[in-house]
Amino acid sequence: MNLEEVELQPWLFQVDPYPEESFSHFLGRFRRANCLSGSQLSAMLGKRPYIVSYWEAPSRRRRPEGEDLKRLSQMTGVAASRFNLMWSSSGTELHWPTRLCARCYVEDPWHKLTWQIASKHHCEKHQRRLLTVCPHCGVAFQLPSYWRNGQCDRCRLPFLEMGGYQGAIRRD
Ligand SMILES: [Zn+2]
Ligand SMILES: [Zn+2]
Repeated sequence: MNLEEVELQPWLFQVDPYPEESFSHFLGRFRRANCLSGSQLSAMLGKRPYIVSYWEAPSRRRRPEGEDLKRLSQMTGVAASRFNLMWSSSGTELHWPTRLCARCYVEDPWHKLTWQIASKHHCEKHQRRLLTVCPHCGVAFQLPSYWRNGQCDRCRLPFLEMGGYQGAIRRD
């Protein structure tokens, strides 16, 4: 499907995907821009209430396909081919729970799909370990779709202030 085939739905607010943004993070932004819960968006797609929350959990490896993908593309104004850049390829093992490079977040405040690749424990760009929990209170990060304020859910430490806690990678 190409862009010409996408019939835009003007009553929905549209958000542009960011470079390397994960599908979960994008879908959360789209839902909030339109004040939609996961179950409401599921209903609009003609699906069972939990389907969007499944899509938003990267480790579940569920993603919209076929008619679902086409419908989501129409609703969001984002081409199906662009959505394909928000997922890791099917053979890639994904990490659970959610990870963060706070130094990337300073530059680009969104969740990147590369952080969830299980075999990569550090950020290539900053050569620092990825965080898997809040370094201040130890609570796990929320799913990227819930990253509304960019801070720890429990102690409110901003992601922007977590960079100093990311250990350097030893280079032998
Ligand atoms: Zn980084
Ligand atoms: Zn915390």
